[in-house]
Amino acid sequence: MSNSHDHYAVLGIGEAASAQEITQAYRRLAMKWHPDRNRENIEAAEREFKRLGEAYRVLSDPKQRELYDAMRLSARSNTNTNGFGGHKPFWSNADPFEARRPASERGKDLKAKVTVPLETLVSGGEIEVKVNGFATCAACAGHGRFDGYAGCDRCGGQGYTDTGYLCRKCGGAGVLFQPTCVVCRGKGVIKQKQTLSIKVRAGTPSNATLRVRGAGEPGPSGGLRGDLLLTFSVKPHKLYKLLGLTLTADIKVDFVTALLGGTAHCEIFGRTVKATIPAGARAGRLITVPGEGLKHPSTGEAGDLKLRVVLDLPEGARKLTKEHKEILKSMFEAAAARS
Ligand SMILES: [Zn+2]
Ligand SMILES: [Zn+2]
Repeated sequence: MSNSHDHYAVLGIGEAASAQEITQAYRRLAMKWHPDRNRENIEAAEREFKRLGEAYRVLSDPKQRELYDAMRLSARSNTNTNGFGGHKPFWSNADPFEARRPASERGKDLKAKVTVPLETLVSGGEIEVKVNGFATCAACAGHGRFDGYAGCDRCGGQGYTDTGYLCRKCGGAGVLFQPTCVVCRGKGVIKQKQTLSIKVRAGTPSNATLRVRGAGEPGPSGGLRGDLLLTFSVKPHKLYKLLGLTLTADIKVDFVTALLGGTAHCEIFGRTVKATIPAGARAGRLITVPGEGLKHPSTGEAGDLKLRVVLDLPEGARKLTKEHKEILKSMFEAAAARS
């Protein structure tokens, strides 16, 4: 039975057979091997009938036949030149297309973008993500194959047309070999909306891509699932802005410190951060505090904290006497006159 999966050998025809010869050979053999006509030898008949169906399906479709011929040719030349005796040519498989999708092939990765509160990235938390996912087709257990017989849709299972001619589609058999699962159309998966609960670790940068293993598309033919690649869009926050690992916030600086330089403090997520203010800092100026932004949960890389100067009045500003005000004015006037 070494030629049992050679479609030409199965139909007993040569490689140069015309479309008509292929159909005639199939009709003749399908009649001969129809399981209903071989009840005493039903297993062998079913096997043979299935092989005939496969051979006919491939060879009767010009595109598939072309591909099959090309595979056959390349398999033959490989066998001749590579010296691996007994090496099974890959077209020996029942389905020439099987070679392009091995059973172990991993499913596709899915992509999703989710809007998260800034705090979730800074402090960590759990988020819910709705994805247009895929589930394994229950009808075929993810194999995408049906591998059985279904009634011929052309003749309604009669084998003959209303006018008494042999049905051209099933060759009079009344049934057709149905290699593909009708529920998933051979894909092995069906679309399904899913809600996933995903843990986000503290310090996750806003531009991160989270890879959720196994939450992607199931692989064809029951292969491993792909991953879900999750990206974020951060909800606007009243006090903070997050860009990657860099956190931006406002810092109140009284104008004396802004003028002369010094230190100022601010609260960042319950933490007191000290910043050095250079002399002459104008309102809106960004002061960088290195390493005080987010700390990446995997790499440990620390982002910067950028503090935007907001000018504030110093303690006691409202209690200035007339004399104090005069002194202040004269100080600035004298300084201006020097330049
Ligand atoms: Zn039919
Ligand atoms: Zn299916």
